Amino acid sequence: MPPTFAQLGVPESICRALERSGIEKPFEIQSAVIADAMEGRDICGRAPTGSGKTLAFGIPLIANVGQARPRRPRALILSPTRELAEQIASELRSISGPVTVAAVYGGVGYTNQRKQLQRGVDILVACPGRLEDLIDQRAVSLHEADQVVIDEADRMADMGFLPAVRRILDQTADQRQTVMFSATLDSDVAKITRDYQHRPITHEVGDATPDIRSADHRFWTVEKTERVGVCADVISATGPTIVFCRTRHGSDRLARQLTQRGVNAAAIHGGHAQNRRTRTLKEFINGQVEALIATDVAARGIHVDSVACVIHFDPPEDHKAYLHRSGRTARAGETGLVVSLIQNGQHADAKKIQKQLDLNEPITSPRPLEHSAAPARRPKPAHHHEADRADRKPNSNHQNRRSRPDRDNNRDGRRSNSNSQGQRNRSDRQGNGRGGNKSKGRPHGRPHQQTRRKPRSGASSR
Ligand code: AMP
Repeated sequence: MPPTFAQLGVPESICRALERSGIEKPFEIQSAVIADAMEGRDICGRAPTGSGKTLAFGIPLIANVGQARPRRPRALILSPTRELAEQIASELRSISGPVTVAAVYGGVGYTNQRKQLQRGVDILVACPGRLEDLIDQRAVSLHEADQVVIDEADRMADMGFLPAVRRILDQTADQRQTVMFSATLDSDVAKITRDYQHRPITHEVGDATPDIRSADHRFWTVEKTERVGVCADVISATGPTIVFCRTRHGSDRLARQLTQRGVNAAAIHGGHAQNRRTRTLKEFINGQVEALIATDVAARGIHVDSVACVIHFDPPEDHKAYLHRSGRTARAGETGLVVSLIQNGQHADAKKIQKQLDLNEPITSPRPLEHSAAPARRPKPAHHHEADRADRKPNSNHQNRRSRPDRDNNRDGRRSNSNSQGQRNRSDRQGNGRGGNKSKGRPHGRPHQQTRRKPRSGASSR
């Protein structure tokens, strides 16, 4: 029997807020991490996206965070992408009661972010670039941030953010708790552990790499001129699809071409303003948009459950990119379809990727999608729907803050500077409380037909 949240030491007010969001029993990573994190230990977590890692690090932050002074957040969560930052902030806000949570990222104006920071933000979720800009502008100081989470550290490394992450960590409180989550814990990520974590406890759940075999992989030879048509047919046969293009321009063009063919498609990439990207993602989650046409960078950090299909419209750069892209489908026990559209001259690269991933699929002409290739989805409980939860107002004040036992020798008293604030009971802040989309199994090539789909769930970090 897994422990309950209360048995893991989660304060009652947070347990109640979780219950109101339909979250009753901890997932495996949460059972593993929460008690240690509540006690202030450094944690090195490897968990796949969709495993519930946001709450694994988020619940202890909410339970323990001190009250921030203006421009001096007490806890910091670093995220590689704006979308992930928003998703984390929204998930935490749904259970944070009086604890204030804000997200800062690039692509939007500075004014609102500066105002929020000035009002005081207990838990700041930030992308490294914008955070450094705000630090330069003296809109924020991290010296009182004594709880730090680095989420998706491997992605941060892939995106070249680690130097910025190091500069940022150097500015946080010396006596701090550092929690890191990553899909892999080797190479650059291991160096961050070595340099910035103190005797971390490692918790690993799930396979080291996404289980590529949970999806059905197809490799089709397609003439350049036929790719759009094939793509449209696959989307209408399978349902919610993420299509990967190499360039922003290519994504915009494909979205237009698919729309002309009657597919509700929308591009998402770094060339669009943040509010447009947020809107597009929401529309995809709601089911208004059937196909999200994404560049690799934009798709990092977009974690939407119940994606039926991934199409590699342009080939991935390498096997790692194939894995990342393909991992957008067949999540959390669901099945999914991955289709690679391969033009003449691209066969050798496709075979190389297959070999590196131990996939041995024939490269064929486009085939009808028989029933077994199409995803059979499990119905999701209501709490999985980010769109629902985003609208829910948190209304609890967290009164039961756990006092943490002293840590090991080096760390004893490391929060001493902040204890007057950090251990202040949340009750002194009362009054500030804020208030399967079944596949149709339709053969590829049948006329396109629009269908209404049930909303997909969003918000998971991977
Ligand atoms: P994450 O991996 O943190 O992105 O979480 C994936 C999804 O699982 C999110 O939609 C969470 O709201 C949901 N979730 C997280 N923990 C639980 C839980 N213990 N019970 C049910 N759903 C959960």
